[in-house]
Amino acid sequence: MAGLGDLGSLLPLLLCCMLPMMMRGQGGGGRSEPTTESDSWYVTYGIQEAYDAIVKETDDWRDKMAVKRTKSRLSFLSRRTPQNFVVDQDVSPRLYRLKDDQAGNLSFELTEVEEGGTTIKATYQGNARSLVQNFKAKMPVKILSSNTKVCPSCGKDMRPDFKTCPYCGATLG
Ligand SMILES: [Zn+2]
Repeated sequence: MAGLGDLGSLLPLLLCCMLPMMMRGQGGGGRSEPTTESDSWYVTYGIQEAYDAIVKETDDWRDKMAVKRTKSRLSFLSRRTPQNFVVDQDVSPRLYRLKDDQAGNLSFELTEVEEGGTTIKATYQGNARSLVQNFKAKMPVKILSSNTKVCPSCGKDMRPDFKTCPYCGATLG
């Protein structure tokens, strides 16, 4: 019969399972499948300006993380060169892709809007969400208070003079 005594032998086993999970937070992992998310937003910047803002912001992430990570145990856990927001693909001013040990893969796709401004589409893993959202919050996202048009395809609001949806590319009437 299984009694309470078995709990004692289960405990170390349980700890063994939990330890790698806790370590992953320190950046050793990547074994679990990360969730990919994406977000699009429209800014009043021109495409080159928006692109420069992305480069500058991710440079900041790299600098901040470099300081943080030399203090962490990451360098001991990893035998290869750490990927610290390494630029993977740079097609100025349309595409900027980065790789990072902890944040995963990130990409920014920029589309110039004919009527002015730029749409930024960010694709990232769930653990980079706060970085991307903070960045988005700093940008001059166009506020559409009145007289807006709603895209019949994706449902987002935009300026009434837009001929093409800056979010999904649908042609508007
Ligand atoms: Zn749309």
